[in-house]
Amino acid sequence: MSQKLTSDFSPETRLAQALGYVDEGTQGLVPPIHTSTTYLRDPDNQYRSGRVYSRADNPTYTPVERVLMSLEQGSDALLFASGMAAATAVFQGLPAGSHVIAPKVMYWALRAWLLNWGQHWGLRVSFVDTSDLAAIESAIMPGQTQLIWLETPANPLWGVADIAAISELAHQHNAKVAVDSTVATPLLTQPLTLGADYVMHSATKYLNGHSDVIAGALVCRTSDPIWEKIRMVRKQGGAVLSPHDANQLLRGMRTMHLRVRESCQSAQWLAEQLQQVAEVSQVLYPGLPNFPGHAIAARQMKGGFGGMLSIRLRDGEQAAITAAASTQLWKRATSLGGVESLIEHRASIEGADTPVPSDLLRLSVGIERKEELLADLMQALQTGK
Ligand SMILES: *Cc1c(COP(=O)(O)O)cnc(C)c1O
Repeated sequence: MSQKLTSDFSPETRLAQALGYVDEGTQGLVPPIHTSTTYLRDPDNQYRSGRVYSRADNPTYTPVERVLMSLEQGSDALLFASGMAAATAVFQGLPAGSHVIAPKVMYWALRAWLLNWGQHWGLRVSFVDTSDLAAIESAIMPGQTQLIWLETPANPLWGVADIAAISELAHQHNAKVAVDSTVATPLLTQPLTLGADYVMHSATKYLNGHSDVIAGALVCRTSDPIWEKIRMVRKQGGAVLSPHDANQLLRGMRTMHLRVRESCQSAQWLAEQLQQVAEVSQVLYPGLPNFPGHAIAARQMKGGFGGMLSIRLRDGEQAAITAAASTQLWKRATSLGGVESLIEHRASIEGADTPVPSDLLRLSVGIERKEELLADLMQALQTGK
């Protein structure tokens, strides 16, 4: 296999061509799907190919992992069966009894895993406001804090964490930093270049982009003992991606730059328009100059502020639920980062102890025509009155 496009080429060109992929055996421009679960041992009992069994690794992953490594400027990458499998592998890679810091408001399912599994299994977790450097500093337990987990912008209030400043602080205390960069995508932010140690993506979202693959990925700045543990977690825990899905993921990734650019432009425009709408009491979007994390986002996000925003409705929870029930174009569904726009009342899905306001609707902006998206929201907001 050859994949020769280096970082001399733009991310757009590297994505479209999957780093210039050519199959050396067939000259095919699209990588094959390797379905073999097992590999022939050499007659002298060796495994010189380096491949033994497909729970450890699969050659279908290689071209995908190389593209991710290239975009994130990392030194190694691992695909997982889901974003959650990737995220939890990082925590499982830490020494037993570790203390970790995580955002107070973060991707809901991972917060639930930290509370329901991580803590029972011996992790000590402090949930802090990760947009507040001083709050992080006072939560650090020197010698015990192994990891600071960040998500930026963070679901579903889109709070922004300063990756460079937090990484510097963490490293002073010998702690690692991992960033859930699902919403920023590898195009808008490269956390490893800002000092983070690991970056995580739910590849289900913008990387694949078509709401038809569940997958996750991790990329590391430099391979270290925790990274080697993470690799063991994948191999021994077995949360491996199907080779068919890995191949389909690469197809989705080839157009990511077009999809992300369109979503960012539409989200920015929608956020600005929605600020003028009487039924909307607040628009949460890092691209708005009045948004609290805007200055940091402007520094660490290049080319857009992402395709995710949330709105709060003046008339409260029932108005929000009715508005979501009244859209025609926006699909009422969870998830994000697909070509189709989604609307969701987050408090309903997150349950009783959610920190999310009940009047909030989360919007994942797809690649439809933005004027049609706004018109549909406007009629739904009128119905919700
Ligand atoms: C979806 C998502 C995850 C989890 O990914 P899955 O692929 O659904 O397991 C983690 N973090 C963020 C920000 C997400 O949006």
